[in-house]
Amino acid sequence: MTTMSAAAIAGQNATPDLRSWLRHLAATDRLAVARAGLSLTDEIAAVSKRLENERAVLFPQPGGHAIPVVANLFADRSWVADSLGVPTAELLARFQAAVRRPLPWVESAADAPGQEVVHRDVDLLRQLPIPKHNELDSGPYITAALLIARNPQTCIQNVSIHRCQVSGPDRIGVLLLPRHTHHYYRLAEQAGEALEIALVIGAHPACILASQAIAALDEDEMNIAGALLGRPVAMVTCKTNRVRVPAQAEIVIEGRILPKVREPEGPFGEFPQYYGARADREVIAVDAITHRHDAIFHTIVGGGREHLVLGEIPREATLLEHLQRSFPSVRDVRLTRGGTCRYHLAVKTDKTSEGEPKNIIMGAFGGHYDVKQVVVVDMDVDIDDPNEIEWAVATRFQADRDLVVVAGAQDSKLDPSADGGISAKMGLDATKPARTGPLAFKRIHVKGVETVDLGSVLQHDPQSVFVRLLAGDRDRASP
Ligand code: MN
Repeated sequence: MTTMSAAAIAGQNATPDLRSWLRHLAATDRLAVARAGLSLTDEIAAVSKRLENERAVLFPQPGGHAIPVVANLFADRSWVADSLGVPTAELLARFQAAVRRPLPWVESAADAPGQEVVHRDVDLLRQLPIPKHNELDSGPYITAALLIARNPQTCIQNVSIHRCQVSGPDRIGVLLLPRHTHHYYRLAEQAGEALEIALVIGAHPACILASQAIAALDEDEMNIAGALLGRPVAMVTCKTNRVRVPAQAEIVIEGRILPKVREPEGPFGEFPQYYGARADREVIAVDAITHRHDAIFHTIVGGGREHLVLGEIPREATLLEHLQRSFPSVRDVRLTRGGTCRYHLAVKTDKTSEGEPKNIIMGAFGGHYDVKQVVVVDMDVDIDDPNEIEWAVATRFQADRDLVVVAGAQDSKLDPSADGGISAKMGLDATKPARTGPLAFKRIHVKGVETVDLGSVLQHDPQSVFVRLLAGDRDRASP
């Protein structure tokens, strides 16, 4: 099977942008359009949530705004594969290849569609349709913006997604977890300076997915996006700072994360299906908003399908790449749905030696601090099926022998069972012994179950055959 590039999915020579993906969704009957004028408070999120497993939704004139909102860009991993132009089975390999061979972005000299309209007099809620999502969220949140920041020392850019609370007309409260943006911010703050940033709303899925890669510090995720697209992303300089943003963006919010300023942010409904608490957090001062004449505003319902799937695939691909560097026997990984697509990792391995699964477990803990539980299984276990993973634990795992527990490690700050981001890690080696007798751990199997042709072995009129069988019974039973 030949694979299409994401650019090909977008149409011959079409520019890879958000609207090329929306056109593809519409052409394949996966885009619903709501009645005009739905409310930005709760209603857009409610409709999106109801349709999260089946349809993307476009909301015209939300809350009276000219700019429409779109949600549910991905309902499952097959949509993600489709957006990158690969079969689902090749999705992680395709992402891994992009991580291994990134394609650097290029400066664009042309006028950028994302800068057709420029607002220097900023009023976030007046100029943009920003929804409120979960019931107890503190208010409207920008949830699908790529936060692009420049390392103040190296000038290399980082791309990531953060929840952004609208705290005032030109003020945003932002949650910075202890990864790359936070590191850049600390460098700026220690020098007494603000960190220049841009929030990019509405980009091609490849850019959004790349932002979720577990890349190394100073590895610009936009270069991974370029490799996914098969062409470099064209970037332009912001109007009020030096950050480069995709020229094809729908909307860009330019600003600075202020040094020595913390203001209340939260609560906000998050991917673990709980609210992240209100606390004093970093603050973005907004300097300008730019957008297309006919811009589209992308939003993600916190903790919804899109949120989970979007984080899952790039994290799986990069954790797989990370593990395979040390363990060639590792074949596949899944961040399971029950584990919020972040905390629980299933690893499939072609085990060659005893003990190796425990090394794999320790490697996975080092891959990302979010990973809290690792189950290592053999090649005959389907890691897309939670029942299969549990079966492996039930029949190939002994807690006194196969359990790894690490106390007091760094964990997700959004895990409510953790103590301020400190928690235990658990690893389960649910593999069978590398060498066993011929029948030990041999999975039962009925010969022919996969190949039997039911059309040829079943009668087409079972009811009448059954009635005749019973009639024969009665005739024999009669005196
Ligand atoms: Mn990064």
